[in-house]
Amino acid sequence: MPKFIFVTGGVVSSVGKGITTASLGRILKSRGVSVSIQKLDPYLNVDPGTMSPYQHGEVFVTVDGAETDLDLGHYERFIDQDLTQAASITSGQIYMSVLDRERRGDYLGGTIQAVPHLTNEVKSRIYGVAEETGADVLICEVGGTVGDIEGETFIEAIRQIRHELPRGDCLSVHVTFLPWVGATNELKTKPTQHSVRELRSKGIQPDVILARSDHPVPREILDKLALFCDVEPRAVVPMETVSTIYEVPLLLEERGLGDYVLERLGLRGERDLHEWRQIVERLKHPVGSVEVAIVGKYVELHDAYLSVKESLAHAGIANNVAVDIRWVHAEDLEVRPAEELLAGADAIIVPGGFGERGWEGKVRAATYARTHKVPYLGLCLGMQVMVTEFARNVCGLDGANSTEFDPESPHPVISLLNEQEGVTNKGGTMRLGAYPCRLEPGGLAARAYETDLVMERHRHRWEFNNAYREPLKAAGLVISGTSPDGSLVEICEIGGHPFMLGTQFHPELQSRPNRPHPLFRALVAAAMGAPAVSEPASVVSTA
Ligand code: GLN
Repeated sequence: MPKFIFVTGGVVSSVGKGITTASLGRILKSRGVSVSIQKLDPYLNVDPGTMSPYQHGEVFVTVDGAETDLDLGHYERFIDQDLTQAASITSGQIYMSVLDRERRGDYLGGTIQAVPHLTNEVKSRIYGVAEETGADVLICEVGGTVGDIEGETFIEAIRQIRHELPRGDCLSVHVTFLPWVGATNELKTKPTQHSVRELRSKGIQPDVILARSDHPVPREILDKLALFCDVEPRAVVPMETVSTIYEVPLLLEERGLGDYVLERLGLRGERDLHEWRQIVERLKHPVGSVEVAIVGKYVELHDAYLSVKESLAHAGIANNVAVDIRWVHAEDLEVRPAEELLAGADAIIVPGGFGERGWEGKVRAATYARTHKVPYLGLCLGMQVMVTEFARNVCGLDGANSTEFDPESPHPVISLLNEQEGVTNKGGTMRLGAYPCRLEPGGLAARAYETDLVMERHRHRWEFNNAYREPLKAAGLVISGTSPDGSLVEICEIGGHPFMLGTQFHPELQSRPNRPHPLFRALVAAAMGAPAVSEPASVVSTA
């Protein structure tokens, strides 16, 4: 059985608990301790797949096709490991499985209760991941803040695990926030004291307090927290806002968190964040910059495109440039000229999306990129945009569209599989998770990846309509990646354009700071005006 670290939050949400958890994972992994991370989300949705990005930000998809919380993306990027479905639990799933069992009659006339039925289900999933991954340490982050009604079951399950296991095998980390009061120019500890009191009232004494703050935290504040919250002074660690999230592991390690955690869990391992430091150095000291326009529907909400944003940062590290993002509202492109909104952008990305709003604006962005020879990367919907634009404006297929937006289109170049003929795989509703993609030798894609077979993660219903393969190819569209049997188009490119490429999958889900995704790396290189796929940029490895 591994050791456990439970991460809870207090005071307010959105203070970076996910990044803190991911950073703790990185610190341990860099010390040679194997880790895995699991997120326990209190909401009652079974998964965030159906939630609006306004509610939840990006939906992160695991290799095995689970639609999960965006924190899983942070975890994967920081610990450089693929996680699975089991790494993401919601209260909704817990209730559903208990109620399914009740309907099946598994409880044989008993009364179903939060304790033990729900808590046992939670514990079995935590223990299950621990066993399955075989990691030295499993870090479990509870979403939300202590005191949330929906989170109670998780907190109680954690209390029980702490009770069941030897003392030294569990550590409780509480992430809080120190508000700054301008009138008196001071940081306040009271909300943290209250939130620790709340946690203790549930039977959990925190071992470590990580105190987020937008201001430097004086020693006396830390001492006060230690005293009032009954935590060792060196286990109260201030976490001031830093310029890049990738700096957080460095900050926490420097403040002794790694030493403390290892000591408490009875583990060993020397600190070694050398390579991680190099990544941060490159990120903070770029030579030059490029500007990439992201054309989307939720651009005021950057979390909706979190992995795209991070992938660009990683590609910047590989190319040694800062990547500035210009957020462009797709709908604005429907009423204002693309020349005005996109002029000067060194590259354009049309990311994934669902629903009609902004679709025509995205098509205009693709027209602009194609005609002005601006590097373009289309991600899932962005590929469908690119194909539609090409069909309409180069191939002369008037009214070409995706049947998602025009079911009556005379030229449904993007359609559901069951609308197409000759495709036997009529599948479920959404293609989710990792699928293999065979790359055409000589294509931009194959040159960027430097291989001929890749696995990439999907989350979509619509596909390139094979009935249009030949006419589009004849007009200059290059199909540079397909499913191994050739039946599904996975990547296309515009022939004769310096870099215009669309993927049916989401490459942004696999980019890591130490292993930038080849397509993003190539896009940023193209944005710099360099040959898009020349020598592979030297990349720091921390694996
Ligand atoms: N709405 C499109 C589809 O379902 C694209 C989805 C996406 O971009 N993830 O096929």
